[in-house]
Amino acid sequence: MVSYQICRRCVMDSSMPGTIFDDEGICSNCHTFDEQAPVTWFPNAEGGRRLAQMVETIKTRGKGHEYDCIFGLSGGVDSSYLALKLKEWALNPLVVHVDAGWNTELAVQNIQAVLDYTGFDLCTEVVDWKMMKDLQAAYFRSGVTNQDVPQDHVFMATLFHYAKKFGIKSIISGHNFATESVPIPWQHNAMDRINLRAIHRAYGHRPLKGYRTVSFLDFYLLIPLLHRIKFYRPLNLIPYNKDEAIAALETVGWKRYARKHGESEFTKFFQDYYLPVKFGIDKRRTHLSSIVLSGAITRDQALAQLQQPNYDEDSVHRDIEYFCKKIGVDQAEFEDVVARKPDVHLDYPSWNPLLASLRWMKRLIRVSPMG
Ligand SMILES: [Zn+2]
Repeated sequence: MVSYQICRRCVMDSSMPGTIFDDEGICSNCHTFDEQAPVTWFPNAEGGRRLAQMVETIKTRGKGHEYDCIFGLSGGVDSSYLALKLKEWALNPLVVHVDAGWNTELAVQNIQAVLDYTGFDLCTEVVDWKMMKDLQAAYFRSGVTNQDVPQDHVFMATLFHYAKKFGIKSIISGHNFATESVPIPWQHNAMDRINLRAIHRAYGHRPLKGYRTVSFLDFYLLIPLLHRIKFYRPLNLIPYNKDEAIAALETVGWKRYARKHGESEFTKFFQDYYLPVKFGIDKRRTHLSSIVLSGAITRDQALAQLQQPNYDEDSVHRDIEYFCKKIGVDQAEFEDVVARKPDVHLDYPSWNPLLASLRWMKRLIRVSPMG
């Protein structure tokens, strides 16, 4: 059995790509946390001041439009809690939900509970399943690490589409430093349309008709500079604790999931089975390390959680069967993809050369909406 070095402060270990250790046995993610926390994360009085300013800015930028901001609601904890806060801050967002075919029943009920409580307007976009299935199967057959790209890309593209359509300048992100500070460098960027199209060309069978995409030019230049669309992350300006967020959500009829990303049949399967079995990556480590660093749990508590199996032996076979049937891959092919050596995104064309040639335009890149 391979033994891995584990960080003495968080629970990242040397099995996690991109994690390196200093002489004291502290990992690179902990150092990044220490550098970024003072400029990103304000769960204090300073955060309160910044938040008031942020809300004012969003309202000012939204003047004269039907909605002052836009955000995506998946039914998960972060985006659902964000909805409650936006109501509390008297913002008037357009809510977008993208149904890419993997919603759990509970997610659908939770979205409804949040909307009933907030009274916000919703746009639901249902991605054509035949095409989504073809793209999702192409990603699976390619065997690359980031199997979330087909969903993540169309989700962002749809947000941008509605932001432009309604003249909305502010996108509210549920991303938060308290639970997501540890990066996942092995996940190729979901906004890389060149990579997405190349993987689909290699393994797909149908045209990607109706699947919304974002080009490199759009993402780095037109959206931030021409449309002046900006991202805001208000959860970084308040104390954000998942258990407290869940407790608040339960008072409005939202029901908890068995585990993180339990709102999506796909993300759960991908993180619980595909990543650990094919790549040896236990993604729980990134989440647990983030909440150890932000002080929500202790390192010992995180280590105890990691002792629990990633998936339940009894139900995993049912999940695999469901997944194979849903994307049209047979059991033998499934086993072949999972067993073969790890595949990489950069075996396919990507936007990396464009990023490299734009290095001199770094200042522009920094003002990208995700920047
Ligand atoms: Zn660490």
